[in-house]
Amino acid sequence: MGLLDLQGVTKSFGDTPVIRGIDLAIDEGSLTCLIGASGSGKSTLLRIMNLLEPIDEGAVLLDGQDISQPGLDPQPIRQRIGIVFQSYNLFPHMTAAENVMLAPRRIKHLSRAELQAPVTALFDRFGLTDRMDRYPDQLSGGQQQRVAILRALAMQPQIMLFDEITSALDPELVGEVLDVLRQLRDDGMTMVLATHEMGFARALADRVCFLDQGRIAEEGRPAQVFGNPRHERTRAFLHRVL
Ligand code: ADP
Ligand code: MG
Repeated sequence: MGLLDLQGVTKSFGDTPVIRGIDLAIDEGSLTCLIGASGSGKSTLLRIMNLLEPIDEGAVLLDGQDISQPGLDPQPIRQRIGIVFQSYNLFPHMTAAENVMLAPRRIKHLSRAELQAPVTALFDRFGLTDRMDRYPDQLSGGQQQRVAILRALAMQPQIMLFDEITSALDPELVGEVLDVLRQLRDDGMTMVLATHEMGFARALADRVCFLDQGRIAEEGRPAQVFGNPRHERTRAFLHRVL
């Protein structure tokens, strides 16, 4: 059993099945990459993991606890599972540091004074010390996305989910965001990443899952999935994107 376990998860929007029986165990400290065509269900799967979408059937277990029960308070669970989206949505009227402090202040009721040292340490760790007091519009897209990652990390989650976080960035800014993920991986963070960055997935993922029409059509070590895909649909997808 993984730190996060999906068991027979299904999800439809109206009459349209979008997630069709997914079993997936996310091991502690692992980096799992979800790849697949647009519309294959990657975002929905991440949103299910963070309890942003209710499921129709199956179960989602965090540390063995079924967190997909209807009626369960999602808030404490969401604190343990950070999520970062393509659009970073920092509050424009707050500095980078204030953005990062916001959730711990509101949700954990920590004061600015209490947060000063840990938040400074977080900015230091990811090379953003000199950007703490800047407003979002004074930062590049890559810096804003890195601040958005720090904002999620400030809640000290057990797992981090990333949904196409480099897709909106100019190509020259992608590397600095992927470097943050690389560092988190080296620090042992458990991560699930929906990505089009095949080079990154190939180099750094512990496991790659190829989603096709709401199913995991193929999964395995990156060397196997990229180097020797078993399924024709995986081969066709990789042929299109590589
Ligand atoms: P991906 O992230 O791989 O591009 P998504 O999870 O966003 O895929 O979408 C999977 C399918 O679910 C798509 O067909 C999409 O149109 C549909 N879908 C996603 N969200 C909704 C929604 N809120 N309502 C209706 N259909 C949705
Ligand atoms: Mg998506």
